[in-house]
Amino acid sequence: MTTNYKDTLNLPRTDFAMKAGLVEREPQRLQQWESRKLYQQIQAGRAGKLRFVLHDGPPFANGDVHIGTALNKILKDIIVKYKTLRGFSAPYVPGWDCHGLPIEFKVSQEMRKGSAGVPPAAADVSSASFDPATIRKACEAYARKYIDLQRTQFKRLGVLGDWENPYLTLNKQYEADELRLFAVIVAKGFVYRGKKPVYWSIPCRTALAEAEVEYRDHVSQSVFVKFPVVGQPKTFIVIWTTTPWTLPANLAVAYNEKLPYVTAKVGEENLILFRGLLPAVAEKCGWAHYTATPFQTEQLATIQYQHPFCNRTGKAFAAEFVTSDTGTGFVHIAPGHGLDDYNLGRQNGLPIYSPVNDDGAFAYSNELPVEQQMPADMVGKSILEKHGKSDANEAVLHELRVRHALLHQENYHHSYPHCWRSKTPIIFRAMDQWFIKIDHERDEFKKAIDNAWQKVWGKMAPHGLSTMATKMDDFMSVVKDACAKSGTLPDILNADNTPASLRVGGIATVDAGVDWNPAWGLNRIRGNIANRPDWCISRQRTWGVPMPAFYDAKGEPILDAQIVRNAADLIEKYGSNVWFEKSACELWSLVKPKDWQGAQAVSKSNDTLDVWIDSGSSSRCVLQQRKELQHDGKTGDEIWQADVYLEGSDQHRGWFQSSLLLSLAGNGAAPFKTVLTHGFMVDADRDKISKSKQSQGGYDKPQTAEAYVKKYGADVVRLWVASQDYRNDIVVSEERVNKVGETYRAIRNALRYQLSNLYDFDPAQHTVADDQLTGLDRWILREYSTLEAEVITAYDQYEFHVVYQKVSQFVAVELSAIYHDVIKDRLYTDPADAPRRRSTQTALWRLVRGLCAMLSPMLVFTTDEAWEFIPDSGCASVHLCTWEPRPLALTEREEQTWRRLFAIRPAALACLETERQAKSIGKALDAKVILKGPAPFLGDLTEEEKESLRELLNVSQLVLTRPSEGAELTVVAVKADGQKCERCWHWETDVGAQAQHPLLCGRCVAAVRQAVK
Ligand SMILES: [Zn+2]
Repeated sequence: MTTNYKDTLNLPRTDFAMKAGLVEREPQRLQQWESRKLYQQIQAGRAGKLRFVLHDGPPFANGDVHIGTALNKILKDIIVKYKTLRGFSAPYVPGWDCHGLPIEFKVSQEMRKGSAGVPPAAADVSSASFDPATIRKACEAYARKYIDLQRTQFKRLGVLGDWENPYLTLNKQYEADELRLFAVIVAKGFVYRGKKPVYWSIPCRTALAEAEVEYRDHVSQSVFVKFPVVGQPKTFIVIWTTTPWTLPANLAVAYNEKLPYVTAKVGEENLILFRGLLPAVAEKCGWAHYTATPFQTEQLATIQYQHPFCNRTGKAFAAEFVTSDTGTGFVHIAPGHGLDDYNLGRQNGLPIYSPVNDDGAFAYSNELPVEQQMPADMVGKSILEKHGKSDANEAVLHELRVRHALLHQENYHHSYPHCWRSKTPIIFRAMDQWFIKIDHERDEFKKAIDNAWQKVWGKMAPHGLSTMATKMDDFMSVVKDACAKSGTLPDILNADNTPASLRVGGIATVDAGVDWNPAWGLNRIRGNIANRPDWCISRQRTWGVPMPAFYDAKGEPILDAQIVRNAADLIEKYGSNVWFEKSACELWSLVKPKDWQGAQAVSKSNDTLDVWIDSGSSSRCVLQQRKELQHDGKTGDEIWQADVYLEGSDQHRGWFQSSLLLSLAGNGAAPFKTVLTHGFMVDADRDKISKSKQSQGGYDKPQTAEAYVKKYGADVVRLWVASQDYRNDIVVSEERVNKVGETYRAIRNALRYQLSNLYDFDPAQHTVADDQLTGLDRWILREYSTLEAEVITAYDQYEFHVVYQKVSQFVAVELSAIYHDVIKDRLYTDPADAPRRRSTQTALWRLVRGLCAMLSPMLVFTTDEAWEFIPDSGCASVHLCTWEPRPLALTEREEQTWRRLFAIRPAALACLETERQAKSIGKALDAKVILKGPAPFLGDLTEEEKESLRELLNVSQLVLTRPSEGAELTVVAVKADGQKCERCWHWETDVGAQAQHPLLCGRCVAAVRQAVK
């Protein structure tokens, strides 16, 4: 008989490809998911289960999906998939932020290019030449185009969600619900119209919110100026400013009561300034000789000064914000151009004077008689800088020089607020705008404040007194700062004496009612709420939700909750274009309440609401509206509150804050329970990856999700995202992605090895019970159980890089370096149905199923592909399965044995290596290992345990000599006894015992007989 023994081996086979081919293969699987409606299937499968809601922060519907946005969406998807895997009903409703300047900017540019055939100046985004309805329609088309594009790109990343029904801030329903929330806030008295300095972008011709301002290095013109004191010839107050263009608006000078001032005599002139800064000022102004005599600070309150070039006088007022570190100890005050200035002006009855128009040019204003205002030839000069100079600054400097009022001029480098869109320096400019009052008090905040007091005390108790004091100080100092803004001080231990304002309520809520991960998020948002000014919510733009206000014949504003609700109903029916298409008269007749007693409207507001009101209203427009996002069975606010918000670390100023403030003002509760924050994608220079650096050719390839997916495949990009500690900034580097690519291949190979040995395994028939499994299989399943518990903890704590580390370590060490290698022999050479082989197949089946489930939130495509090859996996897609750990524990004896076996293994392997080098043996299977060691260490190993050790060493024979008390472990490796078996390559003494198979060992003879039966 001639048997080809190779055919009798159970060699591995599988169609699960070794080569991933992700770039080609992933889109096919995506199509399969879509046609099978996988997302809907998952949701149906989780119906009635405990709900987990991650609420999506909406990206701007503008441009390709950037790699940073991909990071955000992948992290969210990992969380949603993990929660689904653990049995939660975790729907994901993606959203888009559709209104706002970035889109209006682009669309206006394109429209003007189209109409005039000439490209407009880059910074000029004025769209005044088109009617609002036309611009708005073009903006909507533009937004929808990018929603479609981004949706495709997000899906390609493997992100599952309700992509067919996302929430869009431009939807009629969304806009209507946003206005209904706004009506509540209006009814509660939070909204007012006032003339206050706001950030103004000259090129964009609009007010900006805090979050629309970014700080950049800037060189300003800094000047030291003399203000003549009235009635004291040749005597001057010296002021310093970095914004000369605000001097025409100067109405006062501020000093600090606590600082000592002096009169410096320079030549014939007496110059008054703070003593501590005199040497610095003298050096800058080049005063070679001067003498100083004290000037009584109290006298400053009585001084009047002549404006250096306007026909009016001003007074000096004491103010704490005057500091001793820069300038002269005097601060020039223009109440129309700065917040401190505004507050000081209001306290002292000064007009809020801002002689600047919407174009950012000097203009006469109604606040002062024309003859007291700037010289006529200044009018019309622009403040906007070109190449570091502005006409307005130049005109002021010229005037100061002509009048000998300029002591010194120099360049001043500092960080200065810029418009996020046009990238030009903003100006502070007082104008009539709508605001949400942050210090507005409402009784409903008392509960949150009370809770905070109790919880902050309660939380601190276990940490001992000193921690308690520090944490309390920390919390209290923020509250005190906040209260100081509203002019009150809280009683440090008494919640009742704290003003129940939106500001303090907000601080209390974020401190006691929300988990911040990482923890520094709390300090950041607390600081932002404590220090923010009132929220300027009106924009002089077209592409947004209309500010639903009117004006009467006297120009007085009309803002009423019922009118806002009526406008919401109208917009729900027709969309917000109706506000722009209909005349004021038509609108008024449609929304005026039947019992209206107030003034009649003659004009409508042409402002739009800040886009942060749009996205910040999403808890009302999405969480409270969509049934699938409600927490059934919960009560009160917990019904709609999201479990998690997850955005980048800039959103403590942005969406986290706008969502919190609007939800608190409207509902009295935070919209989220946990807030996770991720860092940014940064380049090798640690600079944030930005579109502008991209357009300047800063990167060798586009930093878009698409570019990365096309090169590596989505699963490698996802694994890379998972591998990084996202709480810090993530450095984008090809080297790191490639390294993760190696881990990906190791994982894929491990899965492939496991699958390739399951082709003849039927779990229903062949599964071996836990207590019947061989020692080696029990050991690996115990190792896996440990991994599983650690991975679940890491996922629950949102530490995906820990999951990555644990899994890749397990794959490299326990699986690839030990288990997969050791079990080859039994899998390939045992009879197919041998209990030992079935035991190992049972372990492999559990391992491959477990690993696929555990990795499915990260490797969404690969694990689903592998899943299809698992015999009797239980469900059609890995994304439909539930991950329920089934831990396997070892007995005390087993634990002890495996510790012993692994303690012996390194010495034995080293010995085998030495013999191999000496050429006394070839492979380990050629060897017989003889072990001698201390009695309790080797003495009581059972035959079965001995066999496990032989397998672990992969040798043909293992001999334990009679152990001697107290001796060291010694290992000897010699050539094995007997002959080499043709089939299994073991050296055995029974090779040739069966005449029918002269080249086989006894074990192989049995296997061959079974195989050819
Ligand atoms: Zn054999």
